[in-house]
Amino acid sequence: MPTYEYRCLDCRKRAAIYQSYADYGRLPVACPHCGGARLERRIGRVRVARSEESRLDTLSDPSDWGDVDENDPRSMARAMRRMGDEMGEDLPEEFDEVVDRLESGEDPEAIEKSMPDLGSAPGGDDLDLE
Ligand SMILES: [Zn+2]
Repeated sequence: MPTYEYRCLDCRKRAAIYQSYADYGRLPVACPHCGGARLERRIGRVRVARSEESRLDTLSDPSDWGDVDENDPRSMARAMRRMGDEMGEDLPEEFDEVVDRLESGEDPEAIEKSMPDLGSAPGGDDLDLE
């Protein structure tokens, strides 16, 4: 049975709670320290990694970009900069490099090939520790 990490909003203590996948999100959980029901799910590093991955997925789908000319690397670079501004901080390290290379007119497919980490997480499902 997987363990879910919570933090109690009443006593501020951390609690690891065993729950089956079926029960998670459906059955109420109670703090083992004080019995309080206001538990906040702690988001671990695994989740963060996954959300970055999905951001990269978004970036690599030009159909979401609207008025972008897929065949014009500079147009793509502009769109990526715009998206980067909208998303704010925490952009993946590769982001700037990709945009720079697009702006210099490099073929997007060549960039993708030279950066195997882009779009697919190394190890894939191994990230799922739950
Ligand atoms: Zn508590």
